[in-house]
Amino acid sequence: MSYLESLNRWLHSSKRLTVDAMTTIQGNSELSDNDSQSSRGDGEQSYNQARHKKKNRTAIELDNLCKEFTSPDGSAITAVDSIDLTIREGEFFTLVGPSGCGKTTTLRMIAGLEAPTDGDIYFHGRRVTQDPANERNLAMMFQNIALYPHMRIKDNISYPLKVRNISKTDRYKQAADAADIMQISDLLEKYPADLSGGQRQRAALARTIVQDPIAFLMDEPLSDLDAKLQVEIRKEIQRIHAEINKPTIYVTHNQEEAMTMSDRIAVLNDGQIAQVGTPEKLYNEPASIFVGGFIGVPSMNFLDGNLVSMTENKATVSVYEKEFTWNIENVRRESAGDSVTIGFRPDVISLADTSAEYETDIQGSVNLIERIGDRLLAYVEGPENELRVTVDAGDDLSRGDKVSLHINNADMYLFDTQSGELIARGD
Ligand code: ATP
Repeated sequence: MSYLESLNRWLHSSKRLTVDAMTTIQGNSELSDNDSQSSRGDGEQSYNQARHKKKNRTAIELDNLCKEFTSPDGSAITAVDSIDLTIREGEFFTLVGPSGCGKTTTLRMIAGLEAPTDGDIYFHGRRVTQDPANERNLAMMFQNIALYPHMRIKDNISYPLKVRNISKTDRYKQAADAADIMQISDLLEKYPADLSGGQRQRAALARTIVQDPIAFLMDEPLSDLDAKLQVEIRKEIQRIHAEINKPTIYVTHNQEEAMTMSDRIAVLNDGQIAQVGTPEKLYNEPASIFVGGFIGVPSMNFLDGNLVSMTENKATVSVYEKEFTWNIENVRRESAGDSVTIGFRPDVISLADTSAEYETDIQGSVNLIERIGDRLLAYVEGPENELRVTVDAGDDLSRGDKVSLHINNADMYLFDTQSGELIARGD
């Protein structure tokens, strides 16, 4: 049975147990048929162990990957600076970071569309750094959907198979299967111009899945779609990823997208990796001011202060001419200097009325209030800068109100201002 027939059968099976068992559909050499059968009943544990083992295998490795471009004035632009990364089998891995941080260049080097200045790329342990793009067997999906306008949708979807000299009958059969998976079977005879944006993205996704690729590479594939379609296609990408269980490397500048879709995320800054981890890890244990500020909406608040004293479990910091003493844990490093930055998220501030409960409460006045779902986001003018605070929508809060803010100890982060690195977390 072909890869697509298996995938289709699986997707339409009313008796499907879990998406986990999809692993067997990939012609997985590690799991025998017996293993796949045993996903029901007694063998489930060993099946899951085998799958877990497979999922932990390295699929793609980037070793000291570098890329320099030459600007029109002849100076060097370092787009990617010594990136080391390991992407595991079946993993949804996202490269996220601000514009110009090197996400697309990294992806293009993996795809073979850009030659690295230094470093190496490995697929399943095989060095592919010099291999041309058409020999890498990767499925790619980009922001500007490159469907050929003069080809019908069935020819667009089956195009990667034509390049592989697969017969027309087989090509169309596989295109029909892929279209069925993407629920666009009725569009096969149409041309791209006849399709809506969402339908075109579904066709582009169908084209990627006919390839039976080593990995899926996606560069901001949703950014041209409206908000509703983004949610729809995002779900489709996740569904297909879960079913096919091959690595997906996804590029976005949108941290919310990265946080909702990914198994792991690499946050890039200025061509370098700022941190790699699960969404939870990045949110709860940001390694630096940059990651703390980039991950999380509304973003983390920062206050500059001076370190008065620090032991293994206590830090005293002066901020706004007040001294705050916090219990801390996970002290990672000594502070290089006295200058420290306190980070805390908008949802961990308790808001009291003007009669401050604690001596260290920060006084401010409300500049602006925005509604976010069932919460309110208040912009509060503090002694030195504006702070973001989320409160219940039911709270009686108006513009101009004088308020008193209390930072909860456990939710505080202490960073070295100079290096930007995390020193310790509140405990
Ligand atoms: P964006 O989200 O805006 O697409 P990005 O994180 O994907 O940004 P890249 O497109 O990889 O960033 O670009 C990284 C840096 O390399 C930028 O400074 C960019 O201007 C530069 N750059 C990229 N491609 C080229 C090129 N072909 N020639 C010269 N400079 C380039």
